[in-house]
Amino acid sequence: MKKVATRFAPSPTGPLHIGGVRTALFNWLYSKNQNGKFYLRVEDTDKERSKEEYKNQIIKSLKWIGINYDEKEYIQSNKIKDHVKIANELLKNGQAYKCYCSSEEIEEQKKRAKQKKIPYIYDRKWRDKSEANAPKNIQPVIRFKSKIDGTSLLKDLVQGDVEIDNNTIEDFIILRNDGTPTYNLSASVDDHHMNVTHIIRGDDHKINTFKQIQIYQAMKWEMPSFAHIPLIHTIEGKKLSKRDKASTLDDYSKIGIMPDALRNYLLRLGWSYKDKEIFTLDESIKLFNLEGIGKSPSKLDMNRILSMNEHYIKNIDENDLFDQLTEYCKLYKSEIQSDKKDKIKESLIFLKNKAKTLEDIFNNGQYIMVDEVNFNQDDIKLIDDKAKKVISDFNAQLGSVDKLNKETLEPIVNELIKSNDTNFKGVGQPLRIALTGSKFGPGIYDIIISLGKDEVRKRLTSKKIS
Ligand code: GLU
Repeated sequence: MKKVATRFAPSPTGPLHIGGVRTALFNWLYSKNQNGKFYLRVEDTDKERSKEEYKNQIIKSLKWIGINYDEKEYIQSNKIKDHVKIANELLKNGQAYKCYCSSEEIEEQKKRAKQKKIPYIYDRKWRDKSEANAPKNIQPVIRFKSKIDGTSLLKDLVQGDVEIDNNTIEDFIILRNDGTPTYNLSASVDDHHMNVTHIIRGDDHKINTFKQIQIYQAMKWEMPSFAHIPLIHTIEGKKLSKRDKASTLDDYSKIGIMPDALRNYLLRLGWSYKDKEIFTLDESIKLFNLEGIGKSPSKLDMNRILSMNEHYIKNIDENDLFDQLTEYCKLYKSEIQSDKKDKIKESLIFLKNKAKTLEDIFNNGQYIMVDEVNFNQDDIKLIDDKAKKVISDFNAQLGSVDKLNKETLEPIVNELIKSNDTNFKGVGQPLRIALTGSKFGPGIYDIIISLGKDEVRKRLTSKKIS
């Protein structure tokens, strides 16, 4: 049996889309599951639209989510000579031909098809015509001689048997008149040269597959297997497009979604294994198979991404969580100062409560990270004379406390509730605003303990609230 090899073949003509990441993930997991190879092929033959910046973003995104490819990335434009060579071979063997139609002629044919409301298909004018009649002033394109009669059957590993009438596949261009190869030619030649055994890609490539299969057949190459994955739709059921927000990995990492959580979510988006939801990396590799891929489109659901992330926040090792938070703050907020690191780390146990994202943890823990409290302008107005008295009473009581913990703090709070003739909120809220700048946030005991006695006393006596 040939060693399994898969590939992810994005065009660097825009940022890598979440759907592309899922395709990469499925290819990667399948190759890992089969002890095979996984390659990244950058399909950059469209020189005008391909950008180095997008190539780098693709590489960075795969790295971020933990997909590592074998060998160096394969740059398709470096192999153009190989593609042209195959086009010429096909031409020589009579499997392809030169088409001398002018662009006006083609436009005219397209117009007519549109008027008749039928899909345009090249009329094969030069398929059997002698080159002796060729116009001198036209540089020809090379077209593949597609099958006309009968049907073709694709044994798709996800969709099952897919049959089409051969006459729906036109004599597609393989070499443009400037001598550059087209996608269908380059992709098949590369897939063959790279010994790709399984081509797993989006449903929208099914027609290309029927074209590529014919190139393989014409060249008598060993045929790979194909698996077409249903596309991802928006929650409203529309096709996901690059214009949808939250479509690149940066959009997710920016709000503090963690790579493992997103990877787990994407794995479950269109693939299932019994009713299992959470997959460690090892489990994903061990259990991934093509049979588990569903046949209908899946919907990208932000709420599910958030709850998956929440699950990971609650369950991963706190050192790991801390490292990810540190990195997140550095990239998108402000770096956690080294003298605050221990406090943040110790406080994760409660800062992660109710947090769905790293950004939520950052917001919950911001009061620890700052030297000066940032007061919410509305909340500070709640510090009236009554509140001020609670704050100064609490501060006075705190003087006699040696060790801050719930057992030592609770009696003080209860006492203040009584002496100030108020309730828990009447004590907790002024303290929380004084210590964090906001009336929302972690529990008051957690705040006090995390700041430590000196810092608490400093904040309670701040001029801004007295
Ligand atoms: N460059 C193509 C794309 O980004 C590749 C499709 C394929 O996997 O062959 O859609």
